[in-house]
Amino acid sequence: MIVLPADPIAVVIRAIHELYPSLEAEIYWADDIDSAAQADLDSKLILLNVNSPLGAIPELIAHEAAHLIVGQEGETFDANEHGPKWAEANMAIHSRYVELMLDLSRRQEEDSGRNNGDR
Ligand SMILES: [Zn+2]
Repeated sequence: MIVLPADPIAVVIRAIHELYPSLEAEIYWADDIDSAAQADLDSKLILLNVNSPLGAIPELIAHEAAHLIVGQEGETFDANEHGPKWAEANMAIHSRYVELMLDLSRRQEEDSGRNNGDR
């Protein structure tokens, strides 16, 4: 069996879901967009450019999800505007993402410590 316990994409999605459980969105990879990522409030889509570096993907998802969250709360949706509500949502997602990743990392270390002790 192959497992990926600390999948950064799954973790950032979990962070968003925990903080904003009513947010509905679908994320797709796109090879025909000019930006690293984009969001569309009407269709509730987040598009990720297939050429974006893997390490940037969680941040891009958080960034675009924050636009959808702000838009969902009745704020004017402007993909080029990063106002205080957007910054608040983006920071909340980022903070929760870091917490979850640290928690997974701690648990992984504990598990490997236990496994080494068995040998
Ligand atoms: Zn933006």
